[in-house]
Parts: sequence; C-alpha cells; structure tokens
Amino acid sequence: MPNYSLKLLFVSTPVGALGTGIGGGVELSLYNIAQEMLRRGHSLQILAPVGSKLAQLPIIEIPGNRQIIAQSQGRDTPIMMPDNSVLANMWEYARQVQGEYDLIVNFAYDWLPFYVTPFFDKAIAHFVSMGSLSVAMDKMVVQVVAKFPGTIGFYTPSQAATFALNTECACLSSGVDLSLYEFCPNPNNYLAWLGRIAPEKALEDAVQAAQISNIPLKIMGKMQDEEYWQKICITYPNAPIEYLGFLSTTNMQQQLRQCIALLMTPRWIEAFGNVAIEALACGVPVIAYRRGGPAEIVQDGKTGFLVEPDSVKGLVSAIAHLPQIDRSNCRQSAETDYSLEALGDRFEHWFRVMLK
Ligand code: UDP
Repeated sequence: MPNYSLKLLFVSTPVGALGTGIGGGVELSLYNIAQEMLRRGHSLQILAPVGSKLAQLPIIEIPGNRQIIAQSQGRDTPIMMPDNSVLANMWEYARQVQGEYDLIVNFAYDWLPFYVTPFFDKAIAHFVSMGSLSVAMDKMVVQVVAKFPGTIGFYTPSQAATFALNTECACLSSGVDLSLYEFCPNPNNYLAWLGRIAPEKALEDAVQAAQISNIPLKIMGKMQDEEYWQKICITYPNAPIEYLGFLSTTNMQQQLRQCIALLMTPRWIEAFGNVAIEALACGVPVIAYRRGGPAEIVQDGKTGFLVEPDSVKGLVSAIAHLPQIDRSNCRQSAETDYSLEALGDRFEHWFRVMLK
C-alpha cells in the first residue's frame, strides 16, 4: 500500500452549494473527511457548486444548474439533467485536471459520476451517501462495483444492503470534530429533532410523541419542504414545538446539548444519520426507530433506545425511560467510534487499498 501523501480531488454533491444544508449530512461528512485528510498531510481540492463555503478548505467553485434531489423522485424516474448542469460541469473539470491527482472522490448521489468512471484515467472512489432510491442508479452502482471492485464506499452495512450487491463493500461510518460539541450532564426538559424537514424524515412522529409526552420539542434543520412543514403545523396546532431554523454547528450544539434526548424518526432506511453522533458527542441520548444507520449507532438501553419502526407509542415509552441512561456513556461512544481520527483512519485505509 502506498504510504506517501496523497493528492485528492473531492467532487461535491450537485444538489446545492456546500454550507447551505440542501445536501444533508454528506456536507458535514465531506467537510470532516477533507479537514482530517489535510491534517494528515495529504493535499486536497474540492470541486463544488458556486456559493459553497467551508471554513478554511480549498474549494474550486463550479457554475451551473443544480441537480434535483434524488429523495423527491420515484424509483423509476429516468435520469434527468438540467441545462448547463453543475454536475456535468464538475465532472468535465475533474476530467481535465485528473492528471494532477492520485485519486478522485465522488460525493454525489447521482448516476453520472458512476457512468463516466470507465472513461477516466484516474481511479475514482465513490462515497454513496443514501440507500437505494432509483433503479437506474442502482444498476450503475452494480456495474461499477463489478468493474472496479473496492471503489464504492457506504456509511453502514444496512445502507449497503439496500443495493443488493453480491460483493463486500467498504463501510466507512462517520465522524465529527468532538471539540466542537460540549458535553452537558444536566439537561433541561426539552426534546430535540434535527435534520432536513422533508417527508422521508417523518418529523410528524416526533411532534406527536412530544405532544403526548407533554415535553417541548426543539426542531432544527434545513427547511427543504415548506408544504410538508405547514401540514404538520396545521395537523398538530397544539403540539409544544418550536422551529429554530438551520443553525451552524456551534449554535446547533448549544441547543442540542441541553435536551434530554434526540428523536430520530426516519421513515426511510437512513444511510447513517450524522445527527445521531452529534447528539452523542454532546452526551444526549438518541431515541430512534430500529432500522438503517441509527440502529447501528445507538446501543439500546445504554446510549439511547431503539424502538419499533413507525411506532409513536414506542417513542413515548422510550422518553419515559430516559432517566435510565447515563449521559457520559453517550459521549464515550462518540469518542470511541466517531472521532475525526477514527473517521480519517477508515477513509485513508480505503483510499490506500484502492491505490495499491
Ligand atoms: N444540521 C445543521 N444545522 C441544523 C440542523 C442540522 O447543520 O440546524 C446538519 C447536521 O449537522 C447534519 C445534517 O444537517 O450533518 C443532517 O444530516 P443527516 O445525516 O442526519 O441526514 P440527511 O440530511 O443526510 O438525510
């Protein structure tokens, strides 16, 4: 395996500028992996849509129109490209500069980067950030795995399983900069819910659980589907909820750490759920449905509770049992498994095995 310092080209998500939250958790993952690679002495450039901002990271801004988010489309929707596509422009740029890098790393959940892979001279690593959502994309993932084994990475085994691949792929988990999240031993009587406000996250379940438990719920995250949010407000007019907006990591953790728990209620198979490890890093237990990434992160009865999927009753019962959880176990779990160092070790190993 090569142990020299690597020249990496990261190609970002085409659904929005980095820092806007439209890309969801992959924005934070890209940022964290990039800063850890730089800290380890690798060199790196990030191609990302115009307007992207990530503190102190080298970004080459690429113009063009954004890609439609995959979650809002049906499984059989044909692949669509807007005129002057930022995705196509980023990959055309990558094609031109590929000779300057050892490895290109794709963070887009999209058909095109997989399709162009055989036409590149340089190796491309694909980090897949969501579970299976599209037939056309699934087929392309299968083709790339067959042709270039080892080049596809997922967050978790349960996410990888949604693609029905018959070979083992890298599962890289996630990580956060623990120094940005402060441990809070004595919370106030609030619940938290974090994430993109969109139907696949089933915020309405958390709202109902908060109402039944009569504990205020603080909601933070990108307003992706305003109509969906309005429907929740109309359906549950008396629920004790407050929407605080899409906050910076610093401001978000200030609110989050004071809560008795984070509720995670995704209807879909969540690939990972960065918000789970952000909560754990603050010492906040996570109550989540037992499926997808959160079921691999939460240690039931120790760092939170795993409840029957889609059961509001299950959420309510778990909330009542929160005093059983020792919040220091939550922080400890983040320190052991989800530090930037641990994340960097996993990604660096993946990159080096690919280049050997
Ligand atoms: N987030 C944020 N500010 C907020 C609420 C959420 O920056 O006020 C970020 C959070 O740090 C996380 C992302 O939004 O990185 C949500 O990602 P997650 O992996 O939980 O779900 P996804 O959106 O990818 O489905």
